Formats: sequence, structure tokens, C-alpha cells
Amino acid sequence: MTKATGVIAAAAIAALFGSVIPSAAQDGKLRIIAFGAHPDDNELRLAGTAAKWAALGHHVKFVSVTNGDIGHWREAGGPLAKRRTAEVEAVAKILGITTQVLDIHDGELEPTMENRRTITRLIRDWKADIVLGHRPNDYHPDHRAVGQLVQDASYMVTVPFFCPDTPHLERNPVFLSYEDRFTRPAPMRAHIVVAIDDVVDKKLAAVEALPSQFYEGGANGGPELVPNDEAGKAKRATEVREGFRRRFASSAQRFRDKLREMYGAQRGDAVQYAEAFEISEYGRRPNAEEIRKLFPFFGGS
Ligand SMILES: [Zn+2]
Repeated sequence: MTKATGVIAAAAIAALFGSVIPSAAQDGKLRIIAFGAHPDDNELRLAGTAAKWAALGHHVKFVSVTNGDIGHWREAGGPLAKRRTAEVEAVAKILGITTQVLDIHDGELEPTMENRRTITRLIRDWKADIVLGHRPNDYHPDHRAVGQLVQDASYMVTVPFFCPDTPHLERNPVFLSYEDRFTRPAPMRAHIVVAIDDVVDKKLAAVEALPSQFYEGGANGGPELVPNDEAGKAKRATEVREGFRRRFASSAQRFRDKLREMYGAQRGDAVQYAEAFEISEYGRRPNAEEIRKLFPFFGGS
């Protein structure tokens, strides 16, 4: 086959399947897929690191496993799902990533076999090197279900005759869980902590691009959060932004020892904002050298 024919064949495949996803082997870049329960979960836990990967040309995809259609005090259903999909699409533009919202009702996600297959297919189709999600212990049932589903897909993504309609992965990806504050049965352990000081403005812009959830307060908000006058609006926007700035700073404080370990004492002490991840025992277990390849942000320290 000539090169030109190969290009035409690739174009024909793209026309059939919507897009061509180059494998890591083809372009040498990492492929990362992240599962959040709602259209704001990946954004709050990974936007900084995602922006850093994307800036280096790595391929990042956020998947919201539910459509978020009950996540507001004033509106619900299809219109809210559409609004929230538009919000995460705006975030994806800010971060330079791909995003997808699955059409499953908010508040009703269960770790079913059908959903396990869906998650497995998405990981395989993305040819993921890294998969992220919630831990299976969390206050929200949808978060717990995502944690269970991602855990259930780990390893199985490599088994050829599970979901044989979708080509399996040769290698088990590295599976990571997001930071949380829950303690039972065990607190989250931060195996990897990434400084996001250089992209914190992008992460705060992502927060601003999700007004249904933060500015307006989401499911537990109310009209008192949404002032009509300009001064009130500006005050509310600042309140939200600074609240999240403190939250992103609290991760750096919480995992200061790990930051010192990963960046060296001097740089580690200077970090203001961070994102933290726990390595799952059920995915591939990266050693220190591989962690630095998967998270190429730590420099020579
Ligand atoms: Zn959520």
C-alpha cells in the first residue's frame, strides 16, 4: 500500500467511526482517561494536571458518567443535562482536552454489568495508559458507583473475551484515584502529588465555566446565591473563586511531605496548589521511574 492510500484508508476509517485515535505507539504521547460521576467532578480534581499534560501534547479525555440532570435547585431534566454538557465542553476548551457526558441519570448510577462494559469499552477505545476515577468510598452514591465501575474494569480491559466487540488492551493501564477526605475503611493515600501553581488560573477559570454548580450552588444552592445587581454578582464570583483557591491550596498543605519527596525540599516547600492521586492495587503498579514518565512535571529533582 502506498503512503497516500494509507492516508485515504485512515480517512475512510475516520468517516466510519467519527475520529481516528492514534495509539501511544503512533505519536509517542500519553493517553489519559478520567471518569467522574458528574459534569464537574473530573474538573475539580484533575483540571490542573490535565492542563499540564495537554500543554505537552498528551491526550486527555474527561468522561462524566452521569449527565448531571438533577444537579440544581431550580432546574432539572434534559435542559439541565444540556446546560451542564455545554459547561464541561467550555472547560475542555480551556484545558485543551476532550470531554464526553454519558446519558445516564444523575443520582441513579449503579455498578451494573452494562455499565462495566461501557467503562471498559471507553478505556479500550481511548487506548489508555492512565485511568482515573473516584475511590469506591465516598459520600455520593454515584461517586461510589464510578469507583466500583472503574475498579471492576481494571485488569478486565486486558481480557480478550470480555467485551470481545472492542479490542482489548495489551497492557493494564495505571489506575489512579482522586483525592478525598473520607477515612473509612482507609484514608486516601497520596502516592503522587502534582504542583499546579503554573496552571491554577486555568483551573479557577474551569470553576468559573461551571456556574450551575458553583456560582449558583448546584443541587443544594438557592436564589440567595444569585444576586441581581452588578456589585452582588462580582462579590459572589470573588467568593466562589477564593473559596476554591483555598481548597486547591489545602491539598498542597495536606501533602507537603510528599511534595518535598517528589520535587525536593526547597521546591516542595514553595508549592502553593496541588492535586493528589492514589495508585490502585488492581492496575499496573508503576515504579518511581515510570511515575516520572507518566507525570513528566517533576524536573530533575
Ligand atoms: Zn459528583
